[in-house]
Amino acid sequence: MAKVMAVNAGSSSLKFKLYEMPEEKVLCSGNAERIGHEDGIFGIKWNGESEKKIVPILDHAEAVRLLVKALIEKGIIKDMNEIVAVGHRIVQGGKYFSKSMLFDKDTEDKIESLIPLAPLHNKAHLVGFRAFKEILPNVTSVATFDTAFHQTMEPEDYVFPIPYEYTEKYDCRRYGAHGTSHKYLSEVGLKYIPGVKHPRIISCHIGSGASITAIKDGKCVATSMGLTPLGGIMMGTRTGDLDPSVMNYLCKCTGKSVEEMYQIFNKKSGLLGVSEVSNDSRDVSKAVEEGNKKAILADRLFIRRIADFIGQYYVRLGGADLIIFSAGIGENSPYYREKICEEIGSALGVEIDKKLNAGIRGEEALLSTPNSKIKVAIIPTDEEVMIARDTYAYYLKK
Ligand code: ADP
Repeated sequence: MAKVMAVNAGSSSLKFKLYEMPEEKVLCSGNAERIGHEDGIFGIKWNGESEKKIVPILDHAEAVRLLVKALIEKGIIKDMNEIVAVGHRIVQGGKYFSKSMLFDKDTEDKIESLIPLAPLHNKAHLVGFRAFKEILPNVTSVATFDTAFHQTMEPEDYVFPIPYEYTEKYDCRRYGAHGTSHKYLSEVGLKYIPGVKHPRIISCHIGSGASITAIKDGKCVATSMGLTPLGGIMMGTRTGDLDPSVMNYLCKCTGKSVEEMYQIFNKKSGLLGVSEVSNDSRDVSKAVEEGNKKAILADRLFIRRIADFIGQYYVRLGGADLIIFSAGIGENSPYYREKICEEIGSALGVEIDKKLNAGIRGEEALLSTPNSKIKVAIIPTDEEVMIARDTYAYYLKK
């Protein structure tokens, strides 16, 4: 038995989940928020209990110190040496990583070199990694990349039609994201299509950030996010794919810089931008019910973009055996699941049990009727357990 920590470090937050491996039993989970502030928030859940306190958390190392202290105080561990390995979620692994890697100097340098491709994320992940290394210097550290699962794409699925010189010189191509989630979903999804020799799965990770992936024989063949998570389907605050001339035109019209417009495309667009109500699908749905015209448009746009990608991937895969809904909206919104399935229904022969769908939130379930040509399932995603598995595997190898 060994205790393995899965970590997701952001610029001002540090999420954690501690597992007993190989049982994959969750011993505790929590989050340090507002890192860098006197009034930081440290929350932890364990054994059916939970605690949240406001404390100064001036840097990530302090967050890790608080975490280790809490683990000992609550009797979750007796000694910090019980934590044998820590796995870190890394958003951008570029062309270098097609699987999780031991977090050694070479990995660290490569992640650092990829900062221009994911400025906020990769920088924060490194800060998190270094904080753990300072407090727990002897643990096995592993990096798990959001992009790794997508490295099996063929060039015609990942190369952008720009001068090839830029693809080569600047590694400017599609990398995708949410790969750890899509991998998990495709593995769990197999149980719904027993006996299918070459499974074709379309997994829809639809949360605040959202992406769709086409998976054949367990391998990603296409994914909607692009160079960065800004590409693909419309999201809570992100545009998804756009005609690139929109950037040029709007910069000219508004006098804003490319950087300012890029921030608007990332943070003020999507559901929020079109509806002018909220980035949260629940608020948008409420406004739709009240007859708010912009919310209705945002809602229609969102559903159609998702349906378009499912159609595209149906073609890419030469058909589909299973469509999976996951993440905040995919797991919890019967409304969006129903509307998306309606949109693709007549073309793809998809039919779900609407009554069953209406009652399900946050649970795994098969939604399709026996008549449906493609199975449709909800599978709650679990990126942390994937990190813990890969991290534990490296620990065993050491
Ligand atoms: P991320 O991890 O990308 O921040 P999540 O996967 O947590 O996002 O998804 C968050 C989104 O899920 C929220 O913005 C909200 O729109 C949606 N969501 C969460 N719960 C529900 C619910 N009960 N009904 C509808 N939508 C929900």
